[in-house]
Amino acid sequence: MQLSGWGNFPKAEARVRAPRKEAELADHVAEGSAIARGNGRSYGDSAISPRNTIDMRHFDRMLSFNPATGQLVAEAGVMLADVIDCFLPRGWFPMVTPGTKLITLGGAIAADVHGKNHHLDGSFRACVDWIDVMGPRGEVTRCSRDENADLFEWTLGGMGLTGVILRCAVRLRAVKSGWIRQEMIPADNLAAAMDAFEANMGATYSVAWIDCAAKGDHLGRSLVMLGEHADPGEVPPRYRATPFKAPRHRNIPFPINAPGFALNPLTVRAFNAAYYRNGARQKGTRIVDWDGYFYPLDAIGNWNRLYGRRGFMQFQCVIPQDTAREGMQRLLSAISASGQASFLSVLKRFGPQDSAFSFPMAGYTLALDFPRSKAAIALMPELDAITLDHGGRFYLAKDSRMPAEILAGSDPRAEAFATWRRDRGLSASFASLQSERLNL
Ligand SMILES: Cc1cc2nc3c(=O)[nH]c(=O)nc-3n(C[C@H](O)[C@H](O)[C@H](O)COP(=O)(O)OP(=O)(O)OC[C@H]3O[C@@H](n4cnc5c(N)ncnc54)[C@H](O)[C@@H]3O)c2cc1C
Repeated sequence: MQLSGWGNFPKAEARVRAPRKEAELADHVAEGSAIARGNGRSYGDSAISPRNTIDMRHFDRMLSFNPATGQLVAEAGVMLADVIDCFLPRGWFPMVTPGTKLITLGGAIAADVHGKNHHLDGSFRACVDWIDVMGPRGEVTRCSRDENADLFEWTLGGMGLTGVILRCAVRLRAVKSGWIRQEMIPADNLAAAMDAFEANMGATYSVAWIDCAAKGDHLGRSLVMLGEHADPGEVPPRYRATPFKAPRHRNIPFPINAPGFALNPLTVRAFNAAYYRNGARQKGTRIVDWDGYFYPLDAIGNWNRLYGRRGFMQFQCVIPQDTAREGMQRLLSAISASGQASFLSVLKRFGPQDSAFSFPMAGYTLALDFPRSKAAIALMPELDAITLDHGGRFYLAKDSRMPAEILAGSDPRAEAFATWRRDRGLSASFASLQSERLNL
């Protein structure tokens, strides 16, 4: 079947099987060039192997829960959305969540995803106690910080290239309600937005939507959004008796691929200006429900169709703290000068992280969406070069086009990862279009 990631580029013909049993899975793995696929929410080609893509979504059982520790043991195909549906009514929420709940636990571990609380809590690894990984001959190895620690370390952020994640034990966070106390801080430019992050390092959640089309003194103007889990007394009166219940958001499907001209620099610029003005009017604190706060995009099914048939590219880098102000300023100036406007642009402060191959490091991360056009493709090498100049690196879960030399130049850990895979005899067994493109 034809397969792509969330960005609808690249598209490739792939043989896809969806096993239901471990023995079946082992048979598929034994064929070689295997890659596990979760819910396909990574943007590029990391979950595609033309010869052997293994859809893990039938491995979807929750196996046990310990209410004393919040530890959930579950199969890797369980969706984060199902974890929330099942456990939020009992007062538990994922410790770390990305901007969509429509991902599997296996995908969260393999990309070692981050959320709006990275500066305090780190990436997904912070809540993972152990993982069961199936290797090339169908053998299953349990790994944790104390047991088979190197397999554990490389699997977190290893993009499915260390084996197939079968089961995991992850800890959830106890919360007092399903509501969030949100504080909206409009920031007139990039410096003001970064000052707001630095002044609020104690906030549980922080993230900024950034208007990439703004220029001059307003370059990088943003809406910085802080968040705290609300106490039951803060929940809107009509929900106070059932504080974990929040209004259901209607899922509005995006019906068709939009025509190529729908998202162009002009429409994006107009949208961004209106969005900023509207957000700035909401300055201050209000109580919002968890779904709207963490997952606004999930309310529009298949919103990726907005970018049309040619799909879109995400660019996400992180720049270390000491060069981040200059690096971010240069990235935004290059985007502004190119006339390419990113529709969804997010800025986030990361806290420290020390891990084998995960993306985050202390500093700032910028995530940008560009419709796939000649001009946007031409802009990418410039953004790559600025990131490299400032000691930054790139997020593989968003990547669909980076050349191998850019990865090697930005992240010396890539070579160590490829060597570890070779030494363990994994290179021929587990491969994706991305791993081949990047020489992993
Ligand atoms: C709207 C949106 C917002 C997002 N926001 C964020 C964000 O804020 N932070 C962030 O970090 N990410 C974010 N992402 C990216 C997303 O969280 C990751 O790409 C995640 O890995 C997707 O999980 P998935 O189950 O869809 O996995 P897939 O996309 O199917 O696969 C992703 C990778 O995981 C591997 N994998 C999947 N299952 C297994 C398994 N069982 N065993 C071994 N490897 C496996 C695949 O081989 C592949 O390399 C966002 C994505 C979208 C669409």
